[in-house]
Amino acid sequence: MLLSLIVPCYNEQEALPLFYKECTAVADRLGCEYELVLVDDGSTDGTLAVMKDLAGRDRRVVYLSLSRNFGKEAAMYAGLCNARGEYVAVMDADLQDPPELLPQMLEKLRTGEYDCVAARRVSRAGEPKVRSFFARLFYKFINRISDTQIVDGARDFRLMKREMVDAVVAMGEYNRFSKGLFGWVGFRTCWLPYENVERAAGKTKWSFWGLMKYAMDGVVNFSQAPLSFVSWAGFIMTAFAFFMLAFVVIRKLIFGDPVAGWASTMSVIIFVSGLQLFCLGVIGQYLAKTYLETKRRPHFIVSETNGRDVTKIK
Ligand code: UDP
Ligand code: MG
Repeated sequence: MLLSLIVPCYNEQEALPLFYKECTAVADRLGCEYELVLVDDGSTDGTLAVMKDLAGRDRRVVYLSLSRNFGKEAAMYAGLCNARGEYVAVMDADLQDPPELLPQMLEKLRTGEYDCVAARRVSRAGEPKVRSFFARLFYKFINRISDTQIVDGARDFRLMKREMVDAVVAMGEYNRFSKGLFGWVGFRTCWLPYENVERAAGKTKWSFWGLMKYAMDGVVNFSQAPLSFVSWAGFIMTAFAFFMLAFVVIRKLIFGDPVAGWASTMSVIIFVSGLQLFCLGVIGQYLAKTYLETKRRPHFIVSETNGRDVTKIK
């Protein structure tokens, strides 16, 4: 039985050697064969050199270097498409996904009760307070409006059976929000709680706005609720305007021309045009996603690898 460990790396020259050391130390004790699929997501530092060095010393290391930075989702997808293992795990290069959990995960999977074992942080210690606050808010919100369950604190760190990996790979959408995709495909998932671990070396790639955009992606990809909200808002406003109109006409017929209120008229106009622009924006978000999907551009392009039979463009 082969186990594939997929590691997306973007500028991880400091963290990668540490990761390799710790991860292999744990994996060696698993009692099964394994391969390390290192995906270099267009790093601008020495990450690729580190990968080549590791691959030179260890035959279990397969590296894929993407032609530019495609983002973690695409890097993960590249790894999933090229993992050969019967069991496949995805983990970060910064040791925030503790390799020590692997034996436990494998054991759970081997019982046959589950198809997937996923890690879930139960604390957010060491993270900026504002970030934790908005993260919590996001999970509450999205689970309200989406049919797909998206678990708070879930990381991309998980061990899956081949069947599940094939299902995730078959989901060829361009806008990938993995936390949602993993949930959408179903299968029996076991959640393994653990305390948050801080990055071993290097810096996080997420800015606050980056995370905001990611959250927006999650909403647009896994819920149509904003669209129905917008339709309802439009409907209610129209109904309200209709009654107002009737009121104004009848008043005119009975009392003649009253003094027009400029300020109130203006505020109504501004309010309504603002609402319209907002609604257009919401629709635009969905349209933009559709536009990107219809272009059918590849998710990733591999420019360099030591693997054989690698899917280079997909
Ligand atoms: N990553 C990537 N491409 C990117 C950004 C990040 O492959 O464009 C990788 C990164 O190297 C790391 C993982 O994704 O292995 C998680 O990134 P990070 O630690 O910055 O995220 P956080 O743990 O703070 O959520
Ligand atoms: Mg991290």
